[in-house]
Amino acid sequence: MLKYLRGLRARTFGYLFLLGLVAALAGYGMSSALLQRSLHDYEQRHIQAQLQQLWLTFESRRQTLSSHSQDYALWDETYDFMLSGDPAYLRRNFTAGVLANLAADQVLFIQADGRLLTGLDGRGPTPRRLDSGAWRALAPLVARYLPHLSAQKATLYGWHNGEPLLLAFHPVRNTDADRPSRGWLLFVQHLDATRQQRIASLVKLPFTLAEHPPSPPGATLLQASRRLGERPGEAEVHLSITRPPLLAKQLADARWLLLGNSALVLLVSLLVAAVLFERLILRRLSLFANLADRRRQDHGMAVHFPVRGDDELDRLARSLNALMGEVSQVEQHLHHEIRRDSLTRLGNRTFLHEQMQLYRQLVAQNPELELALLLIDLDGFKLINDSLGHGVGDQALTIIGERIRHAARGTDITVRLGGDEFAVLCLQSVQERGAERLASRILEQVALPLDKLPVQVTISCSIGIAYSQQGALAADELISHADLAMYEAKHRGKGRICRYSERMQVQVNQRMRIEQQLRSAIAAGQLEVWFQPIVRQPGGEIVMVEALARWPTAEGYCPPDQFIPVAEEAGLIGALGAWVAQAAISALPRLRRQCPGLHLNINLSVLQLLEEDLVGRLTAMLDQTGLPRQALHLELTESLFAHDNGVMQRRVLELANAGFELHLDDFGTGYSSLGRLQSLPMSALKLDRCFVQQLEAEDDERMVRSILSLGSQLGMQVIAEGVETLAQRERLLALGCTLMQGFLFARPMPEAALTAWLAQQAGVTRPEPLPALGPQPQPQPEG
Ligand code: C2E
Ligand code: CA
Ligand code: CA
Repeated sequence: MLKYLRGLRARTFGYLFLLGLVAALAGYGMSSALLQRSLHDYEQRHIQAQLQQLWLTFESRRQTLSSHSQDYALWDETYDFMLSGDPAYLRRNFTAGVLANLAADQVLFIQADGRLLTGLDGRGPTPRRLDSGAWRALAPLVARYLPHLSAQKATLYGWHNGEPLLLAFHPVRNTDADRPSRGWLLFVQHLDATRQQRIASLVKLPFTLAEHPPSPPGATLLQASRRLGERPGEAEVHLSITRPPLLAKQLADARWLLLGNSALVLLVSLLVAAVLFERLILRRLSLFANLADRRRQDHGMAVHFPVRGDDELDRLARSLNALMGEVSQVEQHLHHEIRRDSLTRLGNRTFLHEQMQLYRQLVAQNPELELALLLIDLDGFKLINDSLGHGVGDQALTIIGERIRHAARGTDITVRLGGDEFAVLCLQSVQERGAERLASRILEQVALPLDKLPVQVTISCSIGIAYSQQGALAADELISHADLAMYEAKHRGKGRICRYSERMQVQVNQRMRIEQQLRSAIAAGQLEVWFQPIVRQPGGEIVMVEALARWPTAEGYCPPDQFIPVAEEAGLIGALGAWVAQAAISALPRLRRQCPGLHLNINLSVLQLLEEDLVGRLTAMLDQTGLPRQALHLELTESLFAHDNGVMQRRVLELANAGFELHLDDFGTGYSSLGRLQSLPMSALKLDRCFVQQLEAEDDERMVRSILSLGSQLGMQVIAEGVETLAQRERLLALGCTLMQGFLFARPMPEAALTAWLAQQAGVTRPEPLPALGPQPQPQPEG
């Protein structure tokens, strides 16, 4: 209810009603005032007309009396009577009937000097002679008027005993004009109450005669008055009519009628206005409001505001429609955008999740279909980003994203999950298993050179594949399976494809356990450094020791092959390496006391090379011992240099410039190009163990021979790793390799064991040089 009252409709109708009411009241007031005024005018004119009629009545009475008096006064007999005073004349001419006809109450004969000759009073049944009392009463009146008459006849009003009188004077003359007037004949008519009554009933109008003008009547009464006697000296007689208005009731009725009419007009015009407002504006406005409300509640709803013509509301509707169009375009755009990766324009994680829900439903309904998810992670992409900058990194990601999308089928969903991670979701038939072929295609395509970049770069990727049949796996589970498979692919050496298996979960759990334990072991300083000597053959002179990390656990020593990769993946290698370097370097002065000129070899992993302060920290550590920089050899795995990487190249040069010797570890297993090898300041190559094993097991010395000749051509020493048997030693010596490391000479051992071993070695005479080996090489000076 309150809502309705606050609405436009209620307010419009309310204001319309108020406006109508005011207009109706004003109309009523005005027309009622107009009506009243015209009725008043009419009443005034009417009463004036009545007065006029009354006045005429009185005038005609006056005329009649005047003419009667004239008739008698000009009569010779009357003239004679004025001389003779013969009473027979009176008896003969003024009987009661005659007097009544003449309408004269009294007839007086007045001599020229104003004295009364005789008079008759006709008010009784028979006329009587006027007595002296009656004459005395009339005498002042006569005396008053006679001087004004000047021999003329006159009919005048006078007052006697509070009664108006009509007095008709006429000079008595003979028909013979020469004879002078003999006096006056006076007819007196008393306008007493009875006579007034008679006149009133005759003209059907009550009136009053008064000596003074009438006082104004009350507000509800009408009045008209006129003076009857108005000659000089004549007594004032005011004739007036006072009566209630004739049309008072009609006026009251008319007012009611007007009021009713106004109310009707108000109602009808309100109704018409309301209908017009409703049809023209309100209904459409409330339709607009409802539509807008519904749209507000349901964002997805398509709203069209109806357009009928070209009025303001239609224009509003058109504008709103245009606006809604824009809004839904923006919404669609946003809908699209939040599902899209801004860099590669592929879908993103949100999009993948949505599509997975859809595909899962499909797979759940079709047992012959299954879902395959490929998770693709670029190998070593961080290096590209760090060394070539993020701009180049972004370009590389865009190109690779495009290649993956091209490799995928139209129905496959290709997305970038973030960073250097992509995914392809495929819906495929269970027999076909097209995902694996797709994975190989992607592997090939990604590995092609990125020739659109400013620098020539190639990059590999690792792909994990997971399957879900009949919608068994939730989206998150499928992703995590593919993730595990991808992780495994990385672990197995990158650039390969792995399918998820349950075993992977176990391995991952194990790796996670190792990671946690290793973290706390590093923090608690529980790691150890062992040393493995590198000897020069055939003399057996000890020239270097390689520092190797050891991790004692409750189940014995954990092999470095297990924990070093975990440390690298978990970002622990920096701390681990720093600790090993510190421990080994601080042991070196003690070892040198036993074995002067001994060199220390330390392994550096790729992530350590990327550390900004690596050179500074290593030099600080070594300088603390007071030993020359050449005492420290740094072993870098060959695979580090698979890519053309600016940062690493710079870091390697910095290390060499600081005076450290650099050895290329595991040489022969990686991909270093000869050109790049030449540009690196390496002083030694470490021949990988597999080549040493080939010497004996496969009787194949081609690799060893060529690596040795490469080393000699580049001026690098070659150290053979993993020499386990005398036969291997002999073959190596025969090929000219004199620096060797392996279980044949010594296993890696703690410092105490090494000290004992060194002491023992010092006591042992050098083994006899083998005759086939030719001249014994001289120990080389340091540096
Ligand atoms: P690597 O740098 O190639 O080290 C030599 C490995 O060969 C050592 O394995 C050593 O015990 C082993 N070895 C030496 N002679 C023989 C032999 O005659 N026969 C056989 N079968 N093996 C031999 P280890 O100590 O297990 O280390 C494995 C790898 O772990 C190392 O390979 C190195 O890459 C890494 N590593 C060890 N300690 C560190 C460290 O402190 N820092 C870094 N970054 N890596 C380390
Ligand atoms: Ca090494
Ligand atoms: Ca090695």
